Amino acid sequence: MGLSGVVILWYTSHKITSRGEERRVLPAERQKKILSWLQQEGHLKISDLSRRLQVSEMTVHRDVRVLVDQGRVVKTYGGISLASPPVDAPGRGSSTCAYCRRPVDDRLSMTANHADGSVETYCCPHCALLACAQGPSQPRSLLGRDFLLGHTVGAAAGWYVMGADIPTLCCEPQALLFGERQDAERFVRGFGGEIFDFDEATREIQLRMNRPHTACCHQEAGRE
Ligand SMILES: [Zn+2]
Ligand SMILES: [Zn+2]
Repeated sequence: MGLSGVVILWYTSHKITSRGEERRVLPAERQKKILSWLQQEGHLKISDLSRRLQVSEMTVHRDVRVLVDQGRVVKTYGGISLASPPVDAPGRGSSTCAYCRRPVDDRLSMTANHADGSVETYCCPHCALLACAQGPSQPRSLLGRDFLLGHTVGAAAGWYVMGADIPTLCCEPQALLFGERQDAERFVRGFGGEIFDFDEATREIQLRMNRPHTACCHQEAGRE
């Protein structure tokens, strides 16, 4: 390296430290911090980030622009949020089921939010129940939709109807999710089937998977 190179290097590093702004923290490190704060807090203000990272708001905007371009962050009024699907919007995460790889039907889908921040979407309660029964750990939250009313239902508090006399809409044996036991009972009076709570349903779906007469889409996964 020639003398001019050394001078430029000295000048560059000197300029950064004397401004006291960048503090030699790499943009990638700041961006990682921004993402982890967002995962914990959901929403952050630019001014707040500027204070926490001890960089100018202009620097924060540069970091945010990188994250927005990567599709990981969205700008909101006065700040930023994570681009991943919010917990109250099941089915918007990915277009294939994390368990059976079928395309996801929004109406029947369930969405798991894991402790590490990852999100998985299942095509229907059948796959969500099997994934819970067989997975190494339970998701932090698992949400689906009430089969009749369409509103969001937490899986653990939901009611599952199996064996109803309606065509199979997704996976066999079919499990339908209801928010209220009364609604599940009303449905069963019309279409038959049995009602299970979440724990019972995770056991029952595995039992039904293993019944030899059941024609099933993922027997290998159920039998192991
Ligand atoms: Zn599936
Ligand atoms: Zn399915």
